[in-house]
Amino acid sequence: MSPSISGTGGAKRDRLRIAIQKSGRLAEPARALLSACGLSWRESRDKLFCYGESLPIDLLLVRDDDIPGLIADGVCDFGVVGRNELNEQAAARARIGLPPAFRELRALGFGGCRLMLAIPESWEWQGPAQLQGLRIATSYPAILGEWLQAQGIQASVVELSGSVEIAPKLGTADLICDLVSSGATLLANQLKPVETLLDSVAVLAGPVRDFDDERAALAEMLLRRVDGVLKLKDSKLLMFRAHRDTVAELARLLPDADPLVQLPGEGEGPLSLQTMCHGAVTWQRLEELERAGAQGLMVLSVERSLA
Ligand code: ATP
Ligand code: ZN
Repeated sequence: MSPSISGTGGAKRDRLRIAIQKSGRLAEPARALLSACGLSWRESRDKLFCYGESLPIDLLLVRDDDIPGLIADGVCDFGVVGRNELNEQAAARARIGLPPAFRELRALGFGGCRLMLAIPESWEWQGPAQLQGLRIATSYPAILGEWLQAQGIQASVVELSGSVEIAPKLGTADLICDLVSSGATLLANQLKPVETLLDSVAVLAGPVRDFDDERAALAEMLLRRVDGVLKLKDSKLLMFRAHRDTVAELARLLPDADPLVQLPGEGEGPLSLQTMCHGAVTWQRLEELERAGAQGLMVLSVERSLA
């Protein structure tokens, strides 16, 4: 029997369900993050529902556009989705008077992009007032509508579900509002980005209300593990020995590290020290630390931490 995937209304549940993108930019990094949190799944043949093996946390593989709605309807408890999509659907709900039904819980550090206005290369950008009366093509009509309103500008929003960047060439719009990461797509279409409406990144989204069943403890554990993984992402454990009189200078050279911890040792010799460094630990930095008195420097990758 395949597990049923339906809205649960107020029913008590003892498993968590997380929606992630089935395929696309966020699919792999979302899986990698959840695997790093200790989750593993039994893949089903239809590859829509993955039953959680290591923990009672299941995956639903869907289109990213569906994720906010799945949380709103209680079909899923969490989702990994772009802030752009989450905010668009939140703004669309607000516009028709619906209450908030999902919220951003954590920014996840991947899938970064910006929602930007882009105009034909030949135009000179003079600021938002220039948009009065123009036609703007976008897949984000609610965010754009809110922004235009805040600027006090009346423009017509042409909603397109894809290939927004060719609208000016086709004559269906004067300019566009679309996601930009490298800017290469804009360049290829003789457009230039001029104004940022939203800085986006993949986020962990969840419901607005807390759980009142066994999911509460699971959700807390998941968030704690996500925090642990995010915190360690670029961190390294740095270990070395140093004489007491060089410690202040060494600490100064490690502004992106936690306070130095002295490990227990004997006698008068150098102290044994360690710290978690949250920035890049390059060879150059190690050489600098060595010149300042650090001996036996070691840089260790950290697998897991409950800080
Ligand atoms: P789906 O089939 O799930 O609907 P999609 O085509 O809508 O897929 P992708 O192109 O995979 O989605 O993008 C997913 C998310 O990746 C976007 O919503 C956005 O948050 C993020 N992203 C990062 N960089 C870009 C970019 N340059 N263009 C579009 N999205 C980007
Ligand atoms: Zn999509």
